[in-house]
Formats: sequence, C-alpha cells, structure tokens
Amino acid sequence: MRRLRNTKIVATLGPTSSSPDDIEALFAAGVDVFRLNFSHGLHEEHKKRLYHIRQLEKKTGRPIGVLMDLQGPKLRLGVFAKGPVTLKAGDAFRLDLTDKPGTSKRAPLPHKEVFSSLKKGTDLLLDDGKVRLRVEKAGKSFADTQVITGGKLSDRKGVNIPNALINVSAFTDKDLEDLQFGVDMGVDWVALSFVQRPEDIRTAIKLIDGHAGILTKLEKPLAIEKLDEIIELSDAIMVARGDLGVEVPLEEVPILQKRIIRACRKAGKPVVVATQMLDSMVHAPAPTRAEASDVATAVYDGADAVMLSAETAAGDYPIEAVKTMDRIIHGVERDPSHQLIMNSSHPDTQPTTSDAISAAAAKVAETVSAAAIVTYSKSGATARRVSRERPTVPILSLSAERSTSRQLSLAWGVHCVHTTEVQSFSDMVAKAVRVARQEDFAKKGDHLVVTAGVPFGTSGATNILRVADVSDEE
Ligand code: PGA
Ligand code: MN
Repeated sequence: MRRLRNTKIVATLGPTSSSPDDIEALFAAGVDVFRLNFSHGLHEEHKKRLYHIRQLEKKTGRPIGVLMDLQGPKLRLGVFAKGPVTLKAGDAFRLDLTDKPGTSKRAPLPHKEVFSSLKKGTDLLLDDGKVRLRVEKAGKSFADTQVITGGKLSDRKGVNIPNALINVSAFTDKDLEDLQFGVDMGVDWVALSFVQRPEDIRTAIKLIDGHAGILTKLEKPLAIEKLDEIIELSDAIMVARGDLGVEVPLEEVPILQKRIIRACRKAGKPVVVATQMLDSMVHAPAPTRAEASDVATAVYDGADAVMLSAETAAGDYPIEAVKTMDRIIHGVERDPSHQLIMNSSHPDTQPTTSDAISAAAAKVAETVSAAAIVTYSKSGATARRVSRERPTVPILSLSAERSTSRQLSLAWGVHCVHTTEVQSFSDMVAKAVRVARQEDFAKKGDHLVVTAGVPFGTSGATNILRVADVSDEE
C-alpha cells in the first residue's frame, strides 16, 4: 500500500473517530500519523486507540505514527458563581487567587506563578482572544484590570498572556503523568504545548530520554524569538495556529507560517501546519473555498504535514475531511509550479558526507528518471536529509528500527518500510530492489538510486550511492 503524495496528513482521534473501524477508515482515507490529544479524554481511551492503531499496523503491514499531544501549562480561569458573566469595555475586572467563584467584578485565576509576571499594561486574552483585559495594577495574588474588549466569560475559559514570560514549569503534574503513560504505551512522538524557552525542550529531552521524538508546538511569541535554537533542539515542529493566532496579531500568522516552514526545511526537521485547516467540515460535508486554499498554501509553503483537529476528533465528517485534504494535496503536488517552488526554496547543502550523498541522490534520481530513491536509515537521519531535498521521485526508506519507521511517517515524501539489517553490499541492492517491487515503487526495467552507510548497521554513516537496475532475477 503506497500513497501517491508527499505531504503527510496528521489526524486527531476523539469521540467520533475511535473504534477500530473508524481508525481503519481514516487510515484508508489517507491518515499517516494519528494524534492523541491529552487535553481531552481518559488514559484508558487513549490506550485503546493506540492498541487499535497497532492492530491496524499488523493488518496493513505499514508503520503508522502516533503523536501524543501534552496539554502543557495552559492557563484557565476558575468557575463563576451564577453562570456566564458579560464584561463591557471600560469595566474594571479583578483576577485573583482566592477560590471564591467569580462574578461580573472578579474571577479566580488559580495559577500563582502568573501574578508576579504581570505589570501595568500587560494584556490578558481570554477565551481564544475574545475578551481582552489590560493590567492596571498587579500584586502577589491579584491583578486589577480594565476591560479593553468586552464579551462573555464562563467557567474555565482559557487565558493567554502573549508577551510575558510566565514562570510556570513547561510540564504540569498532569503532563508528567500523561508523558509517563504515553511513553510506556509506546507513542512515537510527544508534542509539547506552550513552549516558552529552549530550556523547556531541554527538560523534555531529559524526561523522554530518546523514547520518542520531540515535536515542539510554536504557539508563543517568546518561542518565535528563539526560533532557530528551538528548532535545533526539537525533532519536529508544529505551527500551532490556534493559540499562536491568539498570542500574536492574526495577520502575522501566515507570515510566521512561511518563516517557520523555511527555517525547519533549512534545518531538515519535519514541520506540521495545524488548526482550523478544514474547520467548517466539523459540521459540513465540504469545506469553504478559503479552507481548501489554506491547505494548498501549506503544501506550496513546503510543510511536511498538515493536521486535522476537531474535524476528525469530534466532527460529523471525519472521513470526508481526510479525503478532502488528500485531494487538495494531490492537486497541488501535480501542479508544475509546486516543484518549481520547492526547487527555488532549496536550502544550501551542508558540508557533510550525508548531505552530499542526499543531494547527489536527488540529482542522480532526476537525471536517470529513477523510480525511487531508496535509503537505509537506522536513526532516520538520512531519510530526513533526503526528504529535505524535496526530490522529484519518491523516497523509500528502509529501517531495521521499528520506532524509526513509525517516526518517519511524519516526514515529507518518505515511505518507510521496516526490514532486517543489511548484511552486505549485494544484500543492500537486492533488498532495495525487492522491497521497491513489493511496495509498488518499481517494476522491471526501472532504475533505483540506493544510499547506505558502510559499515552496515551503524547510525549516521551514509557514504554510498548506487544506481541499481530492476531486472528479472529479483
Ligand atoms: P491545541 O494546539 O489544539 O492543542 O491547542 C494547536 C494550536 O494551538 O493550534
Ligand atoms: Mn494550542
């Protein structure tokens, strides 16, 4: 089973998409990576989803990526005494640490670390930015604010404080418990929410200790200020436009999307564009034209993957949403100007053997019209470097590490197959040809461009490029 597109699809599982049949149908429609959103749902539910995904892997023989998304230090109001309240611009409103339920004059904000970061003039955005409060005066356990944009507030609405570095740990107690649970059950990727500083990722690296890839969600302006360092520390990145669009002015989101994708491609790290891509499909069988155009833009920008959230987790048309995304990607990737854009945005080849081989592989494959580039990759590093080239032919990546093949399901253009370790040079060629035929990548008479590292089985040692002919014997 192979997909005829390069840009990958990530889909979130939730109440409307968690039975074995639902998951299988989503996969058949085009999902490459499933996201388990730990802001919602019980551990038991996530565990069942993962179990169904692994069963489906066995059934289809295809590695499938599983991304757990930690809630992170998301700030929320407490509760209100008598239901929702409405604030008007110009009103005074106090936030405090007491646990007395809120009124139209004040509300609890049960995060003690927040208050010391607030100064006169700091803005707080509530309920996805619908309500804006500006701090007049802040103490250790309260903040007196003026309502700048009025609106309705109700129990546990989210609070964003865009430009203040809040002294909260990147991991709440819930995150630590969830992380342990996720790693134990064998997720492939861990997404970190509300990352504020590179230090947050260093903490994650220690906690995760190589048991899963680290995907950093960019949703805070402070993180954007350290973009290159954050990309360097992370294994993958998400343009988390939902919260990002609350934390920075909306008109900056498309510009940041392009800048982040460019920086990730330069670094050779997979990047996911997320949130509201086909939002109207939560309730409608077809998207708006603007949404179709949004998915297309992410593909033209060169994203590795595009993501569905509520569309698949809680929507009325999860399968149609995936099929729609799949069709839009297909269309863009067949547009000749797409390849021109990929070529013109090509980042410099780094002075390493691995990059030299990867760039050469892409060039040779194009010159001889190869059916595919076949890479042998233990850690996935070589496959990611070839993917960074955005070659004109498919990338077939063979790995003896199951976790590598699963993680690579996020990377642009990489079709990964779990195989045994290569033993010798002739084995390397024979296996490449056999798998390429099996997986429908090549037929008799085709050429393959094969890369590998000698000594075989070591990580990060890619140093061979071979053009193999697919002949009768294999
Ligand atoms: P979320 O993250 O859906 O977990 O909030 C994505 C985003 O903010 O865009
Ligand atoms: Mn978010």
